Amino acid sequence: MSKNLLSKYFRKPQLYVQIPTGGKFNPEIDKTILDEIGILPMTAVDEISLENPDALLNGEALINLIQSCVPSIEDARQLCNIDVEALFLAIKYATYGKDITHTHTCSECKAQGDYNIDINYLLDKFPDISEVEPIEFDDLKIHVQPAKIESITRLALMEVEQRRILESVRKSVNEEEDELTLAKTFSDGFRKVAIQNIDLVTTSIARIETPEGDVVDEEEIRQFLNDIPAPIVKTIQSKVKELSKKPDDLSKFEFTCADCGHKDEITLEINPVNFS
Ligand SMILES: [Zn+2]
Repeated sequence: MSKNLLSKYFRKPQLYVQIPTGGKFNPEIDKTILDEIGILPMTAVDEISLENPDALLNGEALINLIQSCVPSIEDARQLCNIDVEALFLAIKYATYGKDITHTHTCSECKAQGDYNIDINYLLDKFPDISEVEPIEFDDLKIHVQPAKIESITRLALMEVEQRRILESVRKSVNEEEDELTLAKTFSDGFRKVAIQNIDLVTTSIARIETPEGDVVDEEEIRQFLNDIPAPIVKTIQSKVKELSKKPDDLSKFEFTCADCGHKDEITLEINPVNFS
């Protein structure tokens, strides 16, 4: 993607942050920027792009947003999802200031009130992902890393696409002889999503330590995943999921009603993308 060379003359970084993984899984990122990643505010175009109601495009929209507002990171596609989540909040901060205002209606007395959520508080809650224990299988040590935004976006797209295909086939099935078509489409679609899931696991394995040396080649790792028993793949998968997920309490908030003192605990999704 080409970038306007003039853009840096307009916006100035509003804050400097670190990412949850500290860039440990992105060797391509220049180490000197990692302690202080400058965050620019959104442009009007960035803001409008985010309002696109098509959930499909959200992953792409986030990648573009980071390319625009965090120019020191050259390839946002390679970022771990959890880093993208943190950067998104930092971009909001750089654009609108530290508070996110939420209007809450008390479940008890129905009184409405505005509550401020401090982005600093949210950013502090992101876990530090620096050391990840490898998964042991036989005499192997499987080193996993949090999922990359690109793989997660691709998986989400694939799931939506398959759902659409199924929907359209289902609509066209009227006669009995078409039942077979439906069954076939269903199983094909299921298989495609399953393969994409394995792909996500593949790209989330940094390396596999064997007694004879390390394996880092993606194709070799894919072959390995396609040929080992399902339970170990599941173990790897859930470890990747756990690493990629932001902590639950990041989206749980307690609001105390100013009128009646009633406390409501609610879940607020602050990011535009919710992949879990
Ligand atoms: Zn109340």
